[in-house]
Amino acid sequence: MQPIVLSTTFEREPDGSYRSGFVYSRGNNPNRQSLEECLVALERSAATVEAVSFASGLAASMSILHALSPQAHVVFPVDLYFGTGIMVRELYERWSVDISWVDMTDAQAVQDALRPDTKLLWLETPSNPTLKVIDIAQMAALAHSVGAVCVSDNTWSPLIQQPFEHGADIVVYSTTKYFGGHSDILSGAVLVRSDNALLPYIRSFQTHGGAVPSPFDCWLLLRSISTLPYRLQAHCNNAQRVAEFLAQHPQIQKVHYPGLADNPYHHLASKQMSAFGGMVSFEVRPRTAQSDGREEAFALAARLRLITRATSLGGVESLIEHRASVEGEHTRAPQNLLRLSVGLEHHEDIIADLTQALEYIA
Ligand SMILES: *Cc1c(COP(=O)(O)O)cnc(C)c1O
Repeated sequence: MQPIVLSTTFEREPDGSYRSGFVYSRGNNPNRQSLEECLVALERSAATVEAVSFASGLAASMSILHALSPQAHVVFPVDLYFGTGIMVRELYERWSVDISWVDMTDAQAVQDALRPDTKLLWLETPSNPTLKVIDIAQMAALAHSVGAVCVSDNTWSPLIQQPFEHGADIVVYSTTKYFGGHSDILSGAVLVRSDNALLPYIRSFQTHGGAVPSPFDCWLLLRSISTLPYRLQAHCNNAQRVAEFLAQHPQIQKVHYPGLADNPYHHLASKQMSAFGGMVSFEVRPRTAQSDGREEAFALAARLRLITRATSLGGVESLIEHRASVEGEHTRAPQNLLRLSVGLEHHEDIIADLTQALEYIA
């Protein structure tokens, strides 16, 4: 295993050169370089790509928006990860980024939103928290028709969805999630086609903006990545079984999982994903016609013993979350919805936990 190189600075030779190839660790260091090489190797792309790693997923996302020119027009999906939405509204609207919010399941709406001065189209699929699947190839083609760059937030689907193969120009990850996989590393990465004009600005935002991952973060992440394909397989298998269990349960009104044959996005997901992921959202059936199901969802989550009530996803442990109360008044999440990050426990244990909690609230 590579050693963790904590040094922030690297010695110069008498002639002024740097034998190690490194100068100062904000610019680069051995652990970060190894991580970025590994991230490039995991992305299937006909064109050459580069990886730029960050201290969080949102720092990675921010580097892309910072790479735009002032007053750029940008198209975002209405079903955007809530944290990205807050960043865009609180930080970038003030900086005169011109933003259109669009339902990206509707190609006509996207086409109508695009303009000759649109610089960027941002998509996220499957969406959070209702797992709407967006056609990456179609969105990339629409973006390219006006000369815009297509960004795909692929946090939920590393390896099992390869956005560059479907035409995306930039792929962004919160590596805090499946890459890290153990809920103990906060980090992010941007992968960019080497011929993309935004790449130098994204790299500059990393080295001069300074939101860089520590050598230990990079080392830990590389260690996690060696099990990523096997963890993902198990997350996907467990999620499929949990989704099938929930779909037949009388107290569950609706299950959002593209792996279910009757899911409206099943066909599209089968086309652009090699597996359906480890995230399942479901809506608890309200007990009365007057109820919005919020209380029932809370009661169910409160009763769980194996599954932990906590935000985030992609870790070895199953996590459940009531998105509407986390997101607050501007949420698009239904009140009766719980989002489940299906972990690597035995699937029978996860299902048993849900079964006993559902019996309790019946
Ligand atoms: C968590 C998450 C992010 C933000 O990443 P952080 O590492 O928390 O900064 C961005 N996009 C998606 C889809 C996420 O789930």
